[in-house]
Amino acid sequence: MSLLVSDAIVLHSFDYLESSRILKIVTRDAGVRSVLARGARRSKARFGSALDLYAQGTAELHVKPGRELDTLAAFEVTRSRSQLALQLARFTGASAIAELTLRFVRDAADPTLFDAIAAALDEIASSPPDRTRDVTLAGAWRVLSELGVAPTIDICADCHSPIEAEQPAMFSHPSGGALCNRCGRLARSGRTLPPEARAALRAWLSGEDFALHSAQDIRAHQRLLREFLREHLADDRPLRAFDVWENDEWTGGAA
Ligand SMILES: [Zn+2]
Repeated sequence: MSLLVSDAIVLHSFDYLESSRILKIVTRDAGVRSVLARGARRSKARFGSALDLYAQGTAELHVKPGRELDTLAAFEVTRSRSQLALQLARFTGASAIAELTLRFVRDAADPTLFDAIAAALDEIASSPPDRTRDVTLAGAWRVLSELGVAPTIDICADCHSPIEAEQPAMFSHPSGGALCNRCGRLARSGRTLPPEARAALRAWLSGEDFALHSAQDIRAHQRLLREFLREHLADDRPLRAFDVWENDEWTGGAA
């Protein structure tokens, strides 16, 4: 058994037996881990509020080679992100980022990826109500970019010729991004992205802000992201949190 000490974020949590909880956490030094927090339900003093969803801190894990479940020895919280629970759109946005992380991230160390996930949650937590959805979109694409599955935006995904920024372009999920006019005409399926939509993706993938102002644009981007995730997932299990986020009740952006 070895001790692993790492920055970690709680992404999922459920009760286990009478007194414990099992958590899924993403760590800076060992990717996504499943951990048993023994006694976490019986005694609040043991872990306090450290095990709340999206809390970040220093986790101490006992890791046994060949075992899928680590044991949580301690978790010292440094960021609780309690603002995520204050608004539904923030919470569903954070849930979508968590689901994306759990479905794509493996158990390898990746500090840059960890930082992108942490930054996405921070930005959602502090987002104004009318920006929460596009801030979530930005965070999701940033995480995908760090995962190395970013789509091409300015280079044709099929023939690698440049695509002018001011032109609409076909976007093909199987090809892996935008297509030039010639390849776009040959593509069997795809969506035409207006220049503005490509500008948004370009900004988000490189970690920059890009505000969307119409509900229609946000919905179109949510759909594009969902299709992209589906294309890159190895299995057909549903994206439940993502569905909730995408189908969230719309109340003028202030949900
Ligand atoms: Zn092409």
